[in-house]
Amino acid sequence: MIATHLVPQKTLECNLFFVSGEHTKSGYSLFIRYMDWIEEDLQYGIMLETKPTGKHTAIGFNFSDVGCYDGFNEAGLTVGTASVPFYDGKTGVGLRDSFATRWILDNFSTTEEAVEYLENIPHAEAIGFLVADSRGISARVECTPRGVSSFESQDGLNTVCNFFMLEGTRHFDKMPRDDRSRVYYRRINDWFDQHRGKISLGKAEDFCRDHENGICEHLKDPLGGTIWSWIAELGTGKIYLASGYPCQNRYRSYQISS
Ligand SMILES: [Zn+2]
Repeated sequence: MIATHLVPQKTLECNLFFVSGEHTKSGYSLFIRYMDWIEEDLQYGIMLETKPTGKHTAIGFNFSDVGCYDGFNEAGLTVGTASVPFYDGKTGVGLRDSFATRWILDNFSTTEEAVEYLENIPHAEAIGFLVADSRGISARVECTPRGVSSFESQDGLNTVCNFFMLEGTRHFDKMPRDDRSRVYYRRINDWFDQHRGKISLGKAEDFCRDHENGICEHLKDPLGGTIWSWIAELGTGKIYLASGYPCQNRYRSYQISS
């Protein structure tokens, strides 16, 4: 097990999106993850490579908690989560997202396996999961203590922000229409439409750093925003991580052990 402590930097929305290989210059699909939280917690942030016996090697991210909130494994399966703050129900008896994510990375290779798992476990909270694999199949999975909806896709773009969209779960979500999470959702869709077919890592990084049209987040109360951001190139074993605000920190590449 190799632990790398993230460098404390300045940084509550989370955004995740998947771009299929047919829309990238390299031909590899990209999975882009934004972790927005209170800045103070970045000092406890870790990137953890795990090698459970007989299971998949994985790289996951977390801070002072069990499991991980996002990551990818040696099979190329990639996953991340976003909370749904305007969920109208209570916390239930079930797994927190960081436990479920770690189980997915340890055990599964495909999006379908991860979706089946998420559909069959009890969930403690309202969480949106984005899952994608190196074959270019992605899924949005909306999990609550009262039920789960999922949507598998082979489309070029699949996005998860802090609200539910699927028919089976969207009525649980009371997010106001003007919440900034919807603004970020639109920006991601607009950016994809502008660059489809010619998306590079550099273009994705530029979008992640941008405030005017991108999704880099800074908040004053509580003090926080994007505390880490990464871009996984599916099928290469590589991940590009910015620890702290992407506008102030370089994306560094890491290779998963084989
Ligand atoms: Zn910024």
